[in-house]
Amino acid sequence: MIKVRNLTKYYVRNKALDNVSFTLKEGEILGFLGPNGAGKSTTMNIITGYLSSDSGSVEIDGINILENPTAAKKKIGYLPEIPPLYNDMTVKSYLEFIFRLKKVRKPMKEHINSICEQVRISDVKEKIIKNLSKGYRQRVGLAQALIGDPPVLILDEPTVGLDPQQIIEIRRLIRELGKKHTIILSSHLLSEVQAVCDKILIINNGRIVADELTSSLTGTGASTEKLRLIIEGRKPQVQSALQKVDGVTNVTYLGEAEKGCCEFTVDSRRDVRRLIFRSLAKTDFNILQMTPVELSLEDTYLNIITGKSDIKEADADVSNI
Ligand code: ADP
Ligand code: MG
Repeated sequence: MIKVRNLTKYYVRNKALDNVSFTLKEGEILGFLGPNGAGKSTTMNIITGYLSSDSGSVEIDGINILENPTAAKKKIGYLPEIPPLYNDMTVKSYLEFIFRLKKVRKPMKEHINSICEQVRISDVKEKIIKNLSKGYRQRVGLAQALIGDPPVLILDEPTVGLDPQQIIEIRRLIRELGKKHTIILSSHLLSEVQAVCDKILIINNGRIVADELTSSLTGTGASTEKLRLIIEGRKPQVQSALQKVDGVTNVTYLGEAEKGCCEFTVDSRRDVRRLIFRSLAKTDFNILQMTPVELSLEDTYLNIITGKSDIKEADADVSNI
């Protein structure tokens, strides 16, 4: 349904996107995850035809956005980071205006009414937009994206600035919309992507650093490995023996597990269980326990974003995660 190939974009000399490629099948909900400044909005603006890329291509349902922008845009409903609302209009007159702007060929009143019901704004249709709460305004933004019933929805950080109750409602709504639409949703919140999306794409410094099913991002794949070990022997010697094992990136001492035994966690870039076994077999230190620790999605994300995994070097801003 959506094919994005090799997008590169410069803002003057600042490279905002570097060779971004991904595809999305009909009916999928993709979470576009990354810290502030990663390139999420830039990518979405290019996909929706509001910004041109320096190279690369975007196809929506087989239609190239550059070659045939009008036809491609008809397939997309877009909720930008700042919803394009006209504050002095009523909700109803605003949606009628958008309806005309999009040149929708459907019975106007019925179409707008059914969208208002779907996003639950029927009760504020006659109100002036500037008097609405942030949660309602966001839903009006969603309503304008839904006008014309486009198969694809692109939602840029749809829950930013909402209170927890409003966030829950918007997420529920997006999941509901996901039954009939193909959706790309951007977020800097891992929990949001986890709660709503089937697939996850992590972007950092303009590059895709992981492309996985939400369920398979944990564990191996994009992540690093972690083991918990209990070893008979003295701490300094055991620790130094573990550090020497090829592939081990970090050894952390957790404490004395039982008399004469130390407990450690070992981080590595690959499965080092056999190497640890063989190296320690050459010493007097006996391995009493060795257990893989499953990394949470949060750990995996942080590893990727801060460049601890060997997928990508990075010095990203993680203050907003
Ligand atoms: P995100 O949406 O993930 O926060 P953006 O796509 O907005 O990221 O920004 C990506 C990078 O491009 C950032 O370094 C940002 O400062 C830069 N950028 C975004 N918009 C502009 C612009 N209009 N002019 C210059 N630089 C921009
Ligand atoms: Mg953004």
